[in-house]
Amino acid sequence: MNKRRVVIIGGGFGGAFTAKYLRRHAPRNWEIELFNSTNYFVFQPLLPEVASGTISAPDAVTPLRLMLPGVKVRMADVVDVDRDAKKIHFLQGSKRIPLCIAYDDLVLAVGQQTNLTRSPGFYEHSFCMRNLADAHQLRNHVIQCLEHADVTEDLELKRRLLTFVVAGGGFSGVETAGELVEMIHRTLQFYPNLQAKQIRTLLVQRGKRILPELSHRLAEYARKKLGKRGIQVLLDSSIRSATATAVYLGDGTRIDTQTLVTTVGNGPRPVTETLGIELQHGKIPVDEYLRVIGNEQVWSLGDAALIPLVTEPVSASDYAPPTAQFAVREARCLAKNIILAQKGKPLTRFSFRPKGSLASIGNYKAVAEVFGVRLSGLFAWLLWRGLYIGMLPGFSTRLRVALNWLFDYFLPRSIVQIANNERPATYYRCYAPGDVVFRPGQIVDGFYTIVSGYLESRISSSAPGEDFVRLLGPGDHWGERSLIGNFETRGLLTAVEETRVLILKQPDFSNLRAAFPALDEYFQRVSEKIYAPSLRKGANSTGKKVSRGIQP
Ligand SMILES: Cc1cc2nc3c(=O)[nH]c(=O)nc-3n(C[C@H](O)[C@H](O)[C@H](O)COP(=O)(O)OP(=O)(O)OC[C@H]3O[C@@H](n4cnc5c(N)ncnc54)[C@H](O)[C@@H]3O)c2cc1C
Repeated sequence: MNKRRVVIIGGGFGGAFTAKYLRRHAPRNWEIELFNSTNYFVFQPLLPEVASGTISAPDAVTPLRLMLPGVKVRMADVVDVDRDAKKIHFLQGSKRIPLCIAYDDLVLAVGQQTNLTRSPGFYEHSFCMRNLADAHQLRNHVIQCLEHADVTEDLELKRRLLTFVVAGGGFSGVETAGELVEMIHRTLQFYPNLQAKQIRTLLVQRGKRILPELSHRLAEYARKKLGKRGIQVLLDSSIRSATATAVYLGDGTRIDTQTLVTTVGNGPRPVTETLGIELQHGKIPVDEYLRVIGNEQVWSLGDAALIPLVTEPVSASDYAPPTAQFAVREARCLAKNIILAQKGKPLTRFSFRPKGSLASIGNYKAVAEVFGVRLSGLFAWLLWRGLYIGMLPGFSTRLRVALNWLFDYFLPRSIVQIANNERPATYYRCYAPGDVVFRPGQIVDGFYTIVSGYLESRISSSAPGEDFVRLLGPGDHWGERSLIGNFETRGLLTAVEETRVLILKQPDFSNLRAAFPALDEYFQRVSEKIYAPSLRKGANSTGKKVSRGIQP
């Protein structure tokens, strides 16, 4: 067959397994390139266990390069899909350089993201459970609550610190609540002033039942088991808003807490909205062959896609559920169909009937239904673990996770709080004479203030000798015009001597501008003073607009 380039966006269950199957079965001359925001595959069902400290963070992930030999792996954020030109645009490297690449077949496996903007206070005060950083952050926070609750004499504060609320009763909500309780109970021995009866954990579910991915019987069974473990399950209930000290339910009930974990509110990733396709329920509609409707060479699967399981779907259960089990099966079907399409052969319909379903509820217990048989407790938990060990990619990841489980069974749970080393909103950078800070066409990552030394900003003109040149010294600033106008840099910025700059990151700069309008008036005045009118508006007319892709 002719040489082809298959580009896959997303290195989760859907994307990584599609790449794996394609590499195994497609002709060797096909180039398979996978784009992912991180350089590792996350086994999401293990995230609650990372948050609870059962599994250490690096052991729960697998480097994509190790998992996918023969596949070209590119750590980059895809920001735009141009279906007409059959190209994708992406940002790469620490300087987020905009680049583009052409494809013959495109696979969209970008999953979904948690939309925290729908309820007031969620963005500011809730924790998510989607990636490694989320799990790490929640763990640190819970340890912080326990440490503080143990020493405070303020009883109201103590009650608040020991109340944990999880929004959403799907897989992730149930597993997170179960693991949280498990972690807290296993570590109470280290906190002499805390007692089990002081811990309050609530699972808030909008619908009439938890675990909609499982059968009604099994879900009810899980609810009872959670109740026995001290988790209060509130059905037919929702969280209306959150503040720094409480959450408010739909009926107005106030629950004092400093911990809200949000596992609901799934929405599309920004890149899916650049497709120019009308999304349905926030997902990309595909046909039974996993081809995006109306597009011969664009495919989609996993949580991002709306996949019909019957010819004329009517209800939610007529579509594939957003689970890892399904995503892996979809990947196999999709890879096969890409190859069949090239051979001009009829495609295979996607169909899958899972043999069973399992969900962990913490404390070495799980609920399961296998071949119609309902199981719970340690046996179900062992089955769950056995299944996941089998699904984990690569021998080394399997061994590491198994050892983590083994150690956790016999050893006390760690309460080490690893400091969050994330850089603050501002940071310093040093440059030597001649260093290039920015080249034309790059995307500005922050607002630069010169602390010491000098930078030269040069914007080339087509007329000889008419370049715009400006020397920036201590107290001067740079980058605001590109950030405000959202366009690529036009100028070349170089260090003239040893220079130290203070950088305010782009999202924080935007937040500051939004909250402090006088800043924009100041920038307007400076711009009018320094730049000729052509350059003032010019950047917008000649500089290319940028898409910043994934925003925090
Ligand atoms: C906490 C939790 C527990 C779960 N438990 C279970 C369970 O017990 N059983 C089960 O079957 N399922 C479970 N699930 C669901 C399961 O994990 C998902 O259905 C599955 O991960 C979906 O795979 P995906 O490939 O579609 O998306 P994802 O796994 O989300 O992968 C999407 C990938 O795309 C990347 N990406 C997104 N946008 C871009 C972009 N613009 N450029 C580059 N890369 C991009 C992301 O970085 C990510 O790596 C759980 C999910 C969670 C969150």
